[in-house]
Amino acid sequence: MSAKDIDFNNLGFNYIKTDYRFRSNYKDGQWDAGELTSDNTVTISEGSPALHYGQQCFEGLKAYRCKDGSINLFRPDRNAVRMQQSCQRLLMPEVPTDVFVEACRAVVKANEAYIPPYGTGGSLYLRPYLIGVGDNIGVSPASEYIFSIFCMPVGPYFAGGLTPTNFVVSSYDRAAPNGTGAAKVGGNYAASFIAGKEAHERKFSDAIYLDPATHTYIEEVGAANFFGITANDEFVTPLSPSILPSITKYSLLYLAEHRLGLKATERKVAIADLAEFKEAGACGTAAVISPIGGIQHGDDFHVFYSETEVGPITKRLYDELVGIQYGDVEAPADWIVKVN
Ligand SMILES: *Cc1c(COP(=O)(O)O)cnc(C)c1O
Repeated sequence: MSAKDIDFNNLGFNYIKTDYRFRSNYKDGQWDAGELTSDNTVTISEGSPALHYGQQCFEGLKAYRCKDGSINLFRPDRNAVRMQQSCQRLLMPEVPTDVFVEACRAVVKANEAYIPPYGTGGSLYLRPYLIGVGDNIGVSPASEYIFSIFCMPVGPYFAGGLTPTNFVVSSYDRAAPNGTGAAKVGGNYAASFIAGKEAHERKFSDAIYLDPATHTYIEEVGAANFFGITANDEFVTPLSPSILPSITKYSLLYLAEHRLGLKATERKVAIADLAEFKEAGACGTAAVISPIGGIQHGDDFHVFYSETEVGPITKRLYDELVGIQYGDVEAPADWIVKVN
């Protein structure tokens, strides 16, 4: 779709073909320089390990149009480091942080016409991914890889303002105790589709996953991290090696402490102790924060602040972070990379 035909006030989260994507190939032990291409298709061998054995990982981050016309990328270096960690776990070659960040900037610049205007609440979503390709059908890591970043304009997750929704605890696990839960890999998502489907069939927003070893502690809320605000104003988010380390979560931990003056803690959160929280939410790049109205666990339904209204601390955290992303609120050092 041509950028001039896009209705920036009515965007969802759908694939839209933009003009350019970055692509780089790894062969004979090294990455090439990479380049921007207008081809949005990827041609790979049918023997590629990405297709059969899930040897692939991805990232998600956003670029924002500011009031003054400049463009902000939010913490792309954190995505670079997390992709390197995913690559280590799946025996794939890492992309250096500076290459990753410069490729993000190049993709945003080349597709500048697709960035939703300031004030629409939209942003340009970047999807970096890295896949193992080549002719080796044998069960072993690929010898060749493709690293690419494409982008698409997306709308605000909550068009009418932050609205709480309800979630249900799933009996499925999304990751094993020493598995790939902390790596942003497609296999975790494929394994969680069924839990999401069952949650949707029961009219819940998504599934909540408990720790895979004991099913006692909260791990993730759909494909987002959990946080709660205790009665004495402590920001708490679960700690576990099988949780995906959300950049939004670490940003909120920092802002809760340094901007809102709350105690901010990463620790285990027992599903049996939901009553300790007066507010709760899910956090991730897509929605930033999704307030949690209530959680269904077996026959118990626990409501936090309200099923219809966002709690005041959740709202303040959201406003602070979104303000930083759009350049309206001063950012902590090195959180924003300017594109232009
Ligand atoms: C990407 C992701 C998140 C959110 O991470 P952000 O860096 O905040 O976008 C949370 N959980 C899972 C499983 C994810 O894949």
